[in-house]
Amino acid sequence: MIRIHVLGAAGGVTGSCYIVETSKARVMVDFGQFQGPDARGGSNLVMPPDIDRLSAVVLTHAHLDHSGRLPILCRNGYKGDIFATSASSDLTDAVLADAAGIQEQDAASENRRRERAGLEPIPPLFTRADAECIKARTRDCEYYKPIQVADGISILYREAGHILGATSIEMTVTDGGDTRKIVFSGDIGPKHVPILRDPDPPENADLVFLESTYGDREHPPMQPSLDQFIKIIRETIFNKQRVLIPAFAIGRTQLLLYYLGQAVREGKLQPDIPIYLDSPAAKRATLVYRKHGELYDADAAKLARTGNFEQDLKGFRIVESPAESRALNESWDPCVIIAGSGMAEGGRIVHHLRHNIWRRGTSLILVGYMAEGTMGRRLAQGAKQVYIFNDPIIVRANVYKIDGFSAHAGRAELLEWMSKLATGKPRVVLTHGDNGPRASLAQGLLERYGLKAELPMRGDVLSLA
Ligand SMILES: [Zn+2]
Ligand SMILES: [Zn+2]
Repeated sequence: MIRIHVLGAAGGVTGSCYIVETSKARVMVDFGQFQGPDARGGSNLVMPPDIDRLSAVVLTHAHLDHSGRLPILCRNGYKGDIFATSASSDLTDAVLADAAGIQEQDAASENRRRERAGLEPIPPLFTRADAECIKARTRDCEYYKPIQVADGISILYREAGHILGATSIEMTVTDGGDTRKIVFSGDIGPKHVPILRDPDPPENADLVFLESTYGDREHPPMQPSLDQFIKIIRETIFNKQRVLIPAFAIGRTQLLLYYLGQAVREGKLQPDIPIYLDSPAAKRATLVYRKHGELYDADAAKLARTGNFEQDLKGFRIVESPAESRALNESWDPCVIIAGSGMAEGGRIVHHLRHNIWRRGTSLILVGYMAEGTMGRRLAQGAKQVYIFNDPIIVRANVYKIDGFSAHAGRAELLEWMSKLATGKPRVVLTHGDNGPRASLAQGLLERYGLKAELPMRGDVLSLA
């Protein structure tokens, strides 16, 4: 009997984790961090039982909601291997180092408060030292090569088209003479995104775990979003003003840099516009993207033969030190500043906002999802004043929200992804989506393929006889 424990991203999008269990082995797929409301009640510190009986961990991709509890797992005694594609392994290293730094800072400031209140200090969720242990545990894997990860369990990594190194996993599980195939979709990207190859769904399975993040909607088309993005930059620079872009370090930033280079090549943007990348995490991710040219799509591979995506941006600079970052605000020279963090909740973007958003003519471009309660969300909703480091700052900048650059497939593409798999009438389980989107996707699967999807909650155990 094969049992699959669903331990996260069930009825929500964060904390992805499954354990596949047979009589001989237990393999964990992803161990992501719970974020936002899912993180309440210390859920990130709850470990699965019998960590010492885990045979292996396999990772779909590097994002924190898939990799962000690995340092806690290892701190709690896991000594086995973590399997990941080589690009995922490098990106995970960058993601975890960045997250650990933020958690150490947050804990330090919280502890100053607690000390004044006479309370015991709290430890960070994990430290940089915890995060550094992961790389040594990780076994770098190739796509499309069967890998035996435990007794009776092997996996094949397929392209998911979501971020560099991201995969869908085909897992072959043998137990008591029976062999079953389980597919974990991972996060699925949209088709035709620059740099990345298109998602490549498996063709047959007994059981499919399918993500449902955007199971209820389509994204706005990409081209008008891209045109608007370039036009805002061109006009703002022409007016001798500044463009600020809060950056999601992994994937989004590299995509924006690619688009900027493309606009220069097409004559839509001056090549010498000063463009600053001011985010240590985005810098590390950009270097990983440069390193793994073997994973590019055909257009990106052609560009990479003569250099990198940013080479046509003659004014492109990576900001190294905090001092250099501060120096950007000692003048009003027109430029584009791409800085972390993505939702403007912390990181160097906060300083740039403070120095620039009160000025008429500044453009702030928000690309991507802005969670409830973040500075990015307040600005996107048209706040006329925000507080930065307790100072009230009036918002005179033009604020633009551009939604066409998603790293997730929309509803139609998720249904399309299932088209070959559906012919074999597999069991389908929807995860990694809020309840609204996954119910809507379940309806779509029923109407189009006659498949009745299951919608488990965190802690449920599925049996595959
Ligand atoms: Zn992801
Ligand atoms: Zn995810």
